[in-house]
Amino acid sequence: MTARLSTRAMEAGITNLHDAKLVFLRQAPVWWLGNRYHCPVCGVDFISVDDAARHVVERSHPVLRGDAAPFVGVATQRRGAG
Ligand SMILES: [Zn+2]
Repeated sequence: MTARLSTRAMEAGITNLHDAKLVFLRQAPVWWLGNRYHCPVCGVDFISVDDAARHVVERSHPVLRGDAAPFVGVATQRRGAG
């Protein structure tokens, strides 16, 4: 798995696609409530949930909520776990 993620994702501690998908799943219960989304694979931002959802379906990319704590929180959780 050699896909490089966006700088923003890397800075949040999401360094590979596997991590991104984990964050995506963790955000799932409240994913639809966001108003800012970010695709860590393409480095693209979305300001509408419809556009974000379409990207998930069409590209199978784990588009993450950019306004939610979990996007940032995963870094510390991962580091804590080693
Ligand atoms: Zn994408």
